[in-house]
Amino acid sequence: MPDFWRLPLDAADHTVPQGRIIIIADRCKGCDFCIEFCPNEVLTPSEQFNRKGYHPPEVIKAEDCVNCGLCQVICPEFAIYAELDHEKHLTEADIQKHSIRLSRKDTRHVR
Ligand code: SF4
Ligand code: SF4
Repeated sequence: MPDFWRLPLDAADHTVPQGRIIIIADRCKGCDFCIEFCPNEVLTPSEQFNRKGYHPPEVIKAEDCVNCGLCQVICPEFAIYAELDHEKHLTEADIQKHSIRLSRKDTRHVR
């Protein structure tokens, strides 16, 4: 499929948030909701066990967190939340990265 993604013409006029994720590992019950539903695939199950014997999430792509708060809202144990770290401008590299990610998601759920 041709790649029509490009940096928006008014990209310099807008910023996107850069989030910072805080995980309270011992509250986690390992349901993986935050991992599955994060739109930017920022999280993955940790190799470590918490005090309950579950694998809490860990951050693998901190730079991709946009502080959307979905992980915070969806977590049944209040074990994860996001804070605004700073605002940043989109770059061509960001657009390419998201275009590849969206293409991959298009095929991920095809049976
Ligand atoms: S705040 Fe949004 S982008 Fe960041 S880790 Fe949570 S769900 Fe993912
Ligand atoms: S949604 Fe909450 S309880 Fe479930 S894996 Fe993520 S941090 Fe743990």
